[in-house]
This record gives sequence, structure tokens and C-alpha cells, in this order.
Amino acid sequence: LILSLGSVNIDIIAYSDRLPRPGETIHASRYAMGLGGKGANQAAAASRLAASLGLRVELAGRTGTDAFGELARTHLAGFGVGLSALRSDPDHPTGIALIGVDANSENMITFAGGANMELDVTDVDAIDALLRQTRVLLLQLEIPMPASLEAARRARAAGALVILDPAPAPLDGLPDEAWSLVDLVTPNETETERLVGIRPTDAASAALAADRLQAKGLTRAIVKLGARGVFWRDGRDSGFVPPFQVQAIDSVAAGDCFNGGLAVALARGDTLGDAVRFAAACGALATTRRGAADAAPSFDEVRALLG
Ligand code: ADP
Repeated sequence: LILSLGSVNIDIIAYSDRLPRPGETIHASRYAMGLGGKGANQAAAASRLAASLGLRVELAGRTGTDAFGELARTHLAGFGVGLSALRSDPDHPTGIALIGVDANSENMITFAGGANMELDVTDVDAIDALLRQTRVLLLQLEIPMPASLEAARRARAAGALVILDPAPAPLDGLPDEAWSLVDLVTPNETETERLVGIRPTDAASAALAADRLQAKGLTRAIVKLGARGVFWRDGRDSGFVPPFQVQAIDSVAAGDCFNGGLAVALARGDTLGDAVRFAAACGALATTRRGAADAAPSFDEVRALLG
């Protein structure tokens, strides 16, 4: 079982020539609505791949009891994600992201967390049985930290591998406890800079950043460099995976598809180096499609790109 504990949102994206100024109303040329939230995106990406390998994916989190909650569930079920651990909170609305995108792809995002921000240790109690069956636990930073840390503690105790995507970039780094409760962190450039004070731009600077991540107490670390590729370290082993050549049109959720793919590859027993190559192909394919969860590639697409 692969379990993602994290945020579930509905993304509402309006496309216009330019973004509005305060007090102004503008016309959008079109808009789109889709499933988002890092917890949901990573679960959806993993689930789309996992079916081919006989692996199961569940999402733990909270939505409201509103129409957006229903919509999120419908999307997630379409990806084959198990929803037994997704709670409906009658007192808070489903999380939404209001996104404006202009003609230059510049964006502006207001995130209203709603029910996501209410996740607490009672949610973790409710998934105790699932945590005991979990092989890989996926965490991110869009829900309150105490819930994530408690889930990491229990999953670890039951033998799971815990992957933390430190995204969105934490303002004051991670609490000390987090470093001892996770097996693997997967920061991008900005997140790496927030965590260890180095902004990686190539394999050499990513290696330096990975050293510092390891010094925090981890054996394994992955540093994502967007269109420049990805660096990984496992104990003394390390490697750099150059970017797969694709027609990138939208980088939204590349990192989430990367982490979904990483979880699937590690759950089937890949070495970290092989898993990172698989994940990088997932991330690259995600940039060839618009949307968040909707950009997730299929197993056959990933296999074709890996050659
Ligand atoms: P995030 O979305 O967390 O910022 P990145 O943008 O670094 O994550 O993307 C995650 C991974 O996806 C990268 O490390 C890389 O392997 C792959 N990727 C992202 N953008 C591209 C691209 N334009 N071309 C090829 N691969 C890409």
C-alpha cells in the first residue's frame, strides 16, 4: 500500500491577457477547474501508475461536505485512489486554490485551505490500521505539521518508508523532529535553499546541498532541479539524472508527479537510483500536459520515455 496524507483542493484557474490590479475586474478568456492539492496530486499520480503493478494507493485527508468535496472525490475515484481514509468535515469547506494565469504564464494564487487546515492527530488515529499496512508514506507541507509528524512516527514504527516533499517551501526550515522521522526528502531549488542555505543550479551544487541534507540526519536525499534534472544520494552512492527531453508547456505539479512515481518505484523495490530515473520521467511527462493531477502520466507513457 502507498498512502498519501495531505491536502485536497479544487483548483479554479482563470486565463486572461493580464492579471487584475487591486479593485479591478477583468474578463478571462477561459477558465478550467480540476483536482489539486499536493496530497491529492501525489496520490493520483501514484495511483495512475500503480494499477499496472498491482499496488494500491489511498489518500488520507479532509474535504468539506460541500459540492467541491464531492467533485474532488469523483476525480480521485477516477484515478483509482482509495478514499476510505478521506474524511468529510461538516464544519469547514473543501480547500480551493484560486489561480490567475496571464499571457506570459505568470500566475497569481490564493490558497484557501478550508478543511485541510483542520487535520490533526484524530485524523491519524483514524488511519492507524492503514499506517500499519503502508509500504510508502507520502507527506508534503500543505496540512498542519503535527498530523504529518504523528503519521510519520507510526508508519516508521510499522516499517514503512516515509518520503517528505518539503513543499511549499517552509519559511523557517523543518522542526528538528521531522529530520529523524522521515527517510527521504525531495526539495526543489527554492525548498533546498530554505532548508540548507544553498540554491542548487547544477549537479555539483546539488551534491553540496545533498551533503547538508544528509548532515541533518538522513541517509537519502533527492534534490530536484526542474528542467535541469535531478540529483540523488543514498549513503555514499549518488547520481545525477539529466532531464528527459520533452515539449514542456506547463510545469504545474511536475514535482507531485515525480513524487508519485518515486513512491511507486520504491514500493516495487527499485534502488534509489532507478526510482529517481523513473520519477524523473514522470515529472518530465507531467510538464507536457496542463493541470495538476490531470497531468499525471500512465505507466506505458513512462516506460516508453525510459526506453
Ligand atoms: P517542483 O514542481 O517540486 O518544483 P520540479 O519542477 O523540480 O519540481 O520538477 C520535478 C522533476 O520533474 C525534475 O527534477 C525533473 O526530473 C522533472 N522535470 C521538471 N521539469 C522538467 C522539464 N522541463 N523537462 C524535463 N524534466 C523536467
